[in-house]
Amino acid sequence: SKNLQTPHVIILPTPGMGHLIPLIELAKRLVSHHGFTITFTIPTETDSPSKAQKLVLDSLPNSIDYMFLSPVDLTDLPSDHKIETRISHTVTRSLSSLSDSFKLITSIRRVVAFVVDLFGTDGFDVANEFNVKPYIFFPSTAMFLSLFLHLPKLDQDYTCEYRDVQEPIQLPGCVPINGIDLFDPAQDKKNDAYKWILHHAERYKLAEGIMVNSFNDLEPGPINALKGAESGNPPVYPVGPLIRTGDDDDVSDPSGCLKWLDDHPLGSVLFVSFGSGGTLSSEQLTELALGLEMSQQRFLWVVRSPSDKVANATYFNPQSIKDPFDFLPKGFIERTKNHGVVVPSWAPQVQVFSHVSTGGFLSHCGWNSTLESVVHGVPLIAWPLFAEQKMNALMLTEDLKVALRPKANERGIIGRDEISKVVKGLMQGEEGKKLRCKMRDLKDASAGVLAENGSSSKALAEVANKMAA
Ligand code: UDP
Repeated sequence: SKNLQTPHVIILPTPGMGHLIPLIELAKRLVSHHGFTITFTIPTETDSPSKAQKLVLDSLPNSIDYMFLSPVDLTDLPSDHKIETRISHTVTRSLSSLSDSFKLITSIRRVVAFVVDLFGTDGFDVANEFNVKPYIFFPSTAMFLSLFLHLPKLDQDYTCEYRDVQEPIQLPGCVPINGIDLFDPAQDKKNDAYKWILHHAERYKLAEGIMVNSFNDLEPGPINALKGAESGNPPVYPVGPLIRTGDDDDVSDPSGCLKWLDDHPLGSVLFVSFGSGGTLSSEQLTELALGLEMSQQRFLWVVRSPSDKVANATYFNPQSIKDPFDFLPKGFIERTKNHGVVVPSWAPQVQVFSHVSTGGFLSHCGWNSTLESVVHGVPLIAWPLFAEQKMNALMLTEDLKVALRPKANERGIIGRDEISKVVKGLMQGEEGKKLRCKMRDLKDASAGVLAENGSSSKALAEVANKMAA
């Protein structure tokens, strides 16, 4: 029947909301624009999805199926392992279950491609067994993709740690990056996380093509360099910005934050969020609270319990374990109740951005959050925490000039005065106006590239044709 001939794609999202969310958007576009059907095969550590995961999976349209792979046991990993190590092990330990899923799906569907995100390359072996072509969807910048593709060479060129390299690292078409600003796992070559990254980087060349969640006007330099014939990489397709539109989300507003936004003037509210995984130290949380209070600007803040050990304490489950409000300075909520609202753990972020009252974004610079900000024309305060976020912050402040960056003191803490100054600068100052103008241009460009003949639509059509051929 026709149905059985419909091109079908199997997608494996590695753990992390920042991976699952854009892959779902990719899937939706392959369905609506190219007539594909999709199955998500989801590696997992537990039998039940997290609350945040459930929210996005429940909103999937009918033509997109999902199945959880058998939960893996990771209790043998050393207690100080990094997230990239955990993610990679989750995938390798899911391969036999993935193979079972392939067997099942290929017996009833015409599977034309297998898509993984940045850490899923071990799944390629299973796809190959079933003669299915592997692809990568890279849910971050072209600049970061360029770093991945150059990593095997950089690893050979520099025997020392990257942070000890004297000159900034120059990737083709990118702003120069100091070694210390490279993504987290590149900060300690002896750590397993670095070995895993190198392993994936070396396997990138096995892909039939690499889609990247960026677009020409945002990163012309890095994108052109990646597309250059002499690059020797698999073909790179800039298909972004693929972000949630919120159309089919269930917008329950338990915290009442959307309703709160209704009562405030156009573009007057600073949205403060560190993504799904970001956590601050207790001291930093206090400074941020007092800085927001001092600025006297309106704010909507997604607060999570502090972690004094790592900056990504809630990466695998965004829900705070303790009541985050217990950690706010005494009297803070009462004193700021006229101009601020605090939401525990998770906010309906897309709806917050779609609201006309939202005028600024203090962000950890996770790439999905950044793209959401771009698409809605909202300028940022860049407050990177982990992963490749420092590279994103660099691009936003130095290259695109759509963000302000607060300075940390000698102890690495951003003080309340600095926070207050930067928040006022963005929401009220001349500087803020300039950034806002720049961001509006990017917003217009982002709509253009996804319109019918836009560059990202064409790039995705190219991939889809190649897959279905
Ligand atoms: N997100 C959300 N509510 C929150 C925090 C995050 O809806 O309270 C969504 C956000 O809109 C984005 C994703 O989760 O789509 C986070 O991805 P990002 O790449 O920004 O950061 P990560 O969570 O991977 O650090």
